[in-house]
This record gives sequence, structure tokens and C-alpha cells, in this order.
Amino acid sequence: MRLVEIVKNDCSGIVYVSIVDAVEGHGCPICRLLVRAEEELMKSILYEQVNDPHTRERIRESLGFCPYHTWMISDIISRELGIDGLGASIIYLDILSTYMNNMNNLTRSTLRDYNNKCIICEYLGEFEDIYLSEFVKCLSNGGLLGKYRKSEAVLCHKRFSLIYGSIDDEELRTKLYAIQIGKIRKTIMELQEYIRKQDYRVTEEVSPNEARAWRKAIEIIKGARTSANILENTPAVKKNNRHILTSLLGKNFHDTSLIISYNYIEHIWPLTD
Ligand SMILES: [Zn+2]
Ligand SMILES: [Zn+2]
Repeated sequence: MRLVEIVKNDCSGIVYVSIVDAVEGHGCPICRLLVRAEEELMKSILYEQVNDPHTRERIRESLGFCPYHTWMISDIISRELGIDGLGASIIYLDILSTYMNNMNNLTRSTLRDYNNKCIICEYLGEFEDIYLSEFVKCLSNGGLLGKYRKSEAVLCHKRFSLIYGSIDDEELRTKLYAIQIGKIRKTIMELQEYIRKQDYRVTEEVSPNEARAWRKAIEIIKGARTSANILENTPAVKKNNRHILTSLLGKNFHDTSLIISYNYIEHIWPLTD
């Protein structure tokens, strides 16, 4: 029932609402949603899912997370009041015991690399697919194009490319392109203004948008700081290389993990800074 509500076609479900929320903020809206999802997913593993047998089994199978998310767990525990080492200790007792078992039976043919599987990367890849497909779907029939035009948000190059490449309607594609170019041009002007105003003879004040333009420029080119942008070979990146959007736009929502992801998106919405 909840899933039907979330994936309904009229661009009013929870995924659409969270995208609108992100579009009305700064930076790349898809990246912003991924950064939020990544952080919340990791906290929820540490807080709530540590005793969930399915999650524990998946983590045990991959012997933890990719190196990026392993160290992110450490950062979250150090940073967040209220998260102590208990969740990580329970998870790593499982992992280290499994590893010990493997080590006890080690031969040259059973040597393996434990770095290439990570459930957080996998979930983020699914979230990204969902957000991107909803973004494309709702550009015209959900009025998202108009909201994007008016906002300070700018899609990063990677998500712009995926979205632009997935739009079949040439007129819509042209409109999105024109908006994107306008936003890049505006960012260039903000950077120029910021630099100009550093001169001691100029008395005009730097605007908030000019002050954050350098960061916006970084995001336009490389995306925000999330594993989906930093890691080269995550499942998310591999999936993006396939024609994922086409299949998702075909409403192929029967994949169980996608259903879990949808429910999770509902769980982490709304965005809060
Ligand atoms: Zn982005
Ligand atoms: Zn990972």
C-alpha cells in the first residue's frame, strides 16, 4: 500500500516531494539527496538495523563495507553525540569472527579481496536510480522544469548527462539544456563578482550566492561529496553505465530491493540541513 502511494505516476508521491525539496535548495539536487541518504543509511545501520538478521547477513557476506564507508562509520561515531561504539562493535564482532573463520581455512586458492562489495554503495545506487527516473518523469508533467529554472540548484555534470540523455522529447531536452547553460553562466558571473569585490577599492558587499559560488562550481563539475561521486567502481557507478533509466521509466518496480529503497526514502524524508 505504501509503495503504491510512493510510486504513483502523477508526481505527487514522496520521492517527488523530496526531489522538489532538494531542487529548492542549493547545489545539485540529486547529489543532495544522495548525501542525505548515505548519512541516514549509515546511521540507521549503526542505530536500528544492527540487530536485523538480513542486514547482518549481507554485511557479513561482504565482510563489512567498502573502505570509504568503513571510515565514514568511524567519522560518524566520532562526530555524533548519542552514537557510541556499540553498533560498530556488534557489526565488527560478526565480521572479524567470519574473517577469522576464513583465515583458519586459508589456502592459496581461497585468498580473496574483501573490498569490492558494500551494501551502502548498493543501496545508494538504487536510490540514485529512483531519484533520477522520478526527476525525468516529472520534469514536464510534475512541473519540475519550472521549479528547477527558478531555483538556485544546479545539476552536476554526471546527473545532468544522465537526465539529459534519458529525455526522449527533444523540445523538453532543449529547454533543460538552456536552463543548465543559464545556471552555469550565472555561476561564472558570481565567481567573477566575488573576485572583483576582493579588491580593497570596491566597497560593494559580497552576496551569499557569490560567496558560495566556488563550492557550486566544484559541485557542477564533480558532484557533491558522496561515495557515488568519489568511488570509481561502486555498484552505483556500474549501474549508471547501463541503461537503467530506460528500464525504470518502464515502471519495472517489482525488484524487492527497489521496494526496500522506496520505503527507505519515505523513512528519511524530509530533508533537514
Ligand atoms: Zn549531482
Ligand atoms: Zn560503500
